[in-house]
Amino acid sequence: MLSYQHAYHAGNLADLHKHALLATAMDYLTRKDKPLSYLETHAGRGLYRLDGAEALKTGEAAAGIERAASQGWLPEDHPLMRALTAIRSSRGGNTYPGSPLIAAHFLRPDDRVHLAELHPAEHAALSTVTGFATLHQRDGFEMAQAVCPPTPRRGMLLIDPSFEVKADYAAIPRHIAKIARKWNVGVIALWYPILTDDRHLPMVRDLMRDHPDALLSEVRFPPARPGHSMVGSGMWVVNPPWGLADEAARLETIFAERA
Ligand code: SAM
Repeated sequence: MLSYQHAYHAGNLADLHKHALLATAMDYLTRKDKPLSYLETHAGRGLYRLDGAEALKTGEAAAGIERAASQGWLPEDHPLMRALTAIRSSRGGNTYPGSPLIAAHFLRPDDRVHLAELHPAEHAALSTVTGFATLHQRDGFEMAQAVCPPTPRRGMLLIDPSFEVKADYAAIPRHIAKIARKWNVGVIALWYPILTDDRHLPMVRDLMRDHPDALLSEVRFPPARPGHSMVGSGMWVVNPPWGLADEAARLETIFAERA
């Protein structure tokens, strides 16, 4: 059963961490004059309204991207801020782009995009804002196994599950090992929540055992509400593009000082 809806959480501090690294990676990868593939296993609806009932109910965007933008956490020329400004100028000032639109901001006409989203309503909403992509309404890991290695062969895969089932944590290293074997040049990024019970630790240990050169970036922040169990955000990246480790270190300092 799919109950998670990202509209309640879009633009929160975890999105800021994940999307700042995604935008930095895409900015670098698209500098080279060679086409690439961009893939996502769990795409969401692509565009969110920060004045919508869901965002207002949780206040997570107000404490996340809105606070970070008003306090200048990221410079105006940061790839995420450039993408945000451009997308808001065409889609409206109260919107927040999901990862597919952030990635698409950097893409060129010859780049190829595959997005999986299983939830029927999220998939339908995604289809209204992603004319540039091939959409798959199927399990994201099945899509990635089917499409990898993609054409063009260089590129990036973002895995951003909703972690609704505890078993996801054990299954993810196995899924990633299979994908990485088929696509050894791909940049493969996984986002995961840091919860108060540290349930991500065995998953991260298995991922690092299989891919010892991967980049691991974690930031901490206060819970969105008293008693809320998410207290941080993790991004783990195989074949990280040049400069991503420096950007991860910069973000870790910003979160430590300001979150
Ligand atoms: N990546 C998006 C972003 O950063 O803007 C947010 C994605 S949200 C965390 C996770 C999404 O995965 C939800 O929209 C959910 O409906 C979808 N989902 C859940 N299980 C899935 C599965 N097995 N395959 C594909 N999508 C799934």
